[in-house]
Amino acid sequence: MKDFDVQVLGAGIVGRCLALALARAGLSVALRPEGARPADGDDVRAYALNAASVELLRGLKVWDALPAHAATAVLDMHVQGDAHAAAIDFSAWQQQVSALAWITDAALLERELAAAVRFAPHITVVDADVPAALTALCEGKGSTTRAALGVAFERVAYGHQAIAARLTSSKAHQGIARQWFRAPDVLALLPFDAPQPQRSYALVWSLPNARAQQLLALDAPAFEHELMRCSGGEAGTLALASKRAAWPLMQANASAWCGPGWVLLGDAAHVVHPLAGQGLNLGLADVAALVGVIRRREPWRALGDEKLLRRYARERAAPTWATGQLTDGLMRLFADDLPLARELRNRGLTLVNHLSPLKRWLTARALNS
Ligand SMILES: Cc1cc2nc3c(=O)[nH]c(=O)nc-3n(C[C@H](O)[C@H](O)[C@H](O)COP(=O)(O)OP(=O)(O)OC[C@H]3O[C@@H](n4cnc5c(N)ncnc54)[C@H](O)[C@@H]3O)c2cc1C
Repeated sequence: MKDFDVQVLGAGIVGRCLALALARAGLSVALRPEGARPADGDDVRAYALNAASVELLRGLKVWDALPAHAATAVLDMHVQGDAHAAAIDFSAWQQQVSALAWITDAALLERELAAAVRFAPHITVVDADVPAALTALCEGKGSTTRAALGVAFERVAYGHQAIAARLTSSKAHQGIARQWFRAPDVLALLPFDAPQPQRSYALVWSLPNARAQQLLALDAPAFEHELMRCSGGEAGTLALASKRAAWPLMQANASAWCGPGWVLLGDAAHVVHPLAGQGLNLGLADVAALVGVIRRREPWRALGDEKLLRRYARERAAPTWATGQLTDGLMRLFADDLPLARELRNRGLTLVNHLSPLKRWLTARALNS
């Protein structure tokens, strides 16, 4: 077996995007998958992707290959606190952008990436370790290679799970994403165009473990009843259009992101609560940053040179830290049911809603994590 420039461990979205981006930069790439990816239609999640992620996927010729119903633009976002008057609204029009995010079908995105990898000339799919100048670990949060390297993964389990499912609605979504901070639940309805154009949502509902298990055990009509109770009917009459699945939630960070000949990206490096829809966006920003650092390297510098890899780690440290703090802070603020905490957070939401520069700043951050 010849030596490769880069060996990518893990064929999730981050690993496949990295392999494609490196191959486009002219490097020879070995991609080593392990474990089965969910079969088509099995992952009921839809990811809120920001402008920077869409740009990356477009550059990889993946975004424009997605079927039209695979991605829906979010034009407005309504975030509701646990007092009725406390809310914050974001609008693409006010922020002068074409969309706040694109809600993207997880399974269709994976399928398109897999096809792109199959046809990429510089990518070889391998089933064992191969010699390479650089090994990129994109193995997700449970990365075993990271553990074998002795890198600690400092995690805080929230004791919450996120239930995801697809829904249909009696009312058109009009491109509005809705989120309710209901202490301790966070309920999000993300506009989507499948299975029914204009009348579908992707659900992400974060709840304490025991409550999540109760909801999963309910039959469809009882689950839909709970959804209607919590959303107050604002998104119309909602019906389940898929199975329900749940993920345990945590915040985590690797104690080191690189070393001689190796580097971490995506969930293998950091995990955040999905309430701000930023985990994959961070991972794709890692890909863009690493490929940028590699493209700009001095001609004599080896790919596995730790000095080079530290440039990538430095570039990603601040945005990843800021997103982690924001999601963790929001999660904790709304987990507390004391009256004072409730009063403070609801006043805070109302205040932020009236501060246009702060809203613009928050939106810009979310669009370019
Ligand atoms: C409910 C929910 C909703 C979310 N919504 C959003 C959202 O709206 N927007 C957003 O940006 N993010 C969102 N996220 C976060 C997003 O799902 C993750 O950040 C993203 O999937 C991480 O991708 P990854 O490729 O790094 O890891 P993974 O998807 O975990 O992929 C890792 C791959 O590596 C493989 N692997 C593991 N070990 C090895 C090994 N030793 N060798 C080779 N391969 C290995 C695994 O089998 C897997 O295929 C959400 C998460 C959840 C739970």
